[in-house]
Amino acid sequence: MSLEVKHLSYSYNHGSAYETRAVDDVSFKIDKGDFVGLIGHTGSGKSTLVQLLNCLLEPSEGTVLVDGKDVFESEDTKRANRFKVGLVFQYPENQLFEMTVYDDVCFGPKNMKLADDEIEKRAKRALSLAGVEEKDYDKSPIALSGGQKRRVAIAGLLAMEPDILILDEPTAGLDPMGREDILSELKKLQKEHDMTIILVSHSMDDVANYADKVLVMDKGKLILDGDVSAVFKEVDLLTSVGLAPPEISYIIRDLNEKGFGIDTDITNVEDFKVELLKILEKRRGKFRKEGIKKNSKDFSAAIQVDATAKGVKHD
Ligand code: ADP
Ligand code: MG
Repeated sequence: MSLEVKHLSYSYNHGSAYETRAVDDVSFKIDKGDFVGLIGHTGSGKSTLVQLLNCLLEPSEGTVLVDGKDVFESEDTKRANRFKVGLVFQYPENQLFEMTVYDDVCFGPKNMKLADDEIEKRAKRALSLAGVEEKDYDKSPIALSGGQKRRVAIAGLLAMEPDILILDEPTAGLDPMGREDILSELKKLQKEHDMTIILVSHSMDDVANYADKVLVMDKGKLILDGDVSAVFKEVDLLTSVGLAPPEISYIIRDLNEKGFGIDTDITNVEDFKVELLKILEKRRGKFRKEGIKKNSKDFSAAIQVDATAKGVKHD
């Protein structure tokens, strides 16, 4: 399933003195199985855009096409689209209101008027996909930790089996561990279930580590659209709209200034690690040729000397 946005605009308080053009002539296309990071400074229009994608808001101009069909065509197509393009709001825990975790996840499928056994099947599958443990099914959602509540909210959406999963700042307010957990769970959904995911975030590091493509918004406009490595090379443009490129871009830049020659397409920690190990291996080979035994004191001294010669500081 493809999602295409064409010249989409949205204004709050249209026609009044307080009119705000929150989304301004935005166009892009997303293919099935893409993991897209949607980033931008606070107020750049991210939340408004995703509510348009999910038909919660009606565009002032332009439209959204799913598999080539206009989703705003009728009330029926809008309703159908809300199930196809699922949206997890920012702080979704505020919307968990059933007595138990299990009932909460059943809410969506019940609303879709599915048969009881289908509801049960979907709820159990969604809970397991979102990484909610069985011992928590009968607990009250209020009793769970922040990270667990987010998982339940994500499960609630997965139970409706959407084709596209949009998450508006799903890691806001979570500790680093909770963040990694949720994001790697999403990555798994993309990889193992070919799910299309749009991750709204103002953390460039989260996007760099998990997304394949990036959309960058500023003042309602889409200012960049491309692969992660291409977008994060636009350091000046990103900085000018108040976004700091991921930490790793700075580290690679500094190391390259010292002659390391690291691939500048690298934007995530995993690839960076592999690249560093390669460089280290190469150096080891060089030292072996020079007759220095691996793991000897001389070897670590030689690495130290080599790095120091290139200007790398050791604390
Ligand atoms: P983001 O999610 O990137 O922080 P939003 O889509 O929430 O951006 O906001 C985009 C712009 O629209 C901002 O200027 C914001 O103040 C304005 N805005 C958002 N929601 C409303 C609303 N309900 N009424 C009026 N203006 C709004
Ligand atoms: Mg927002």
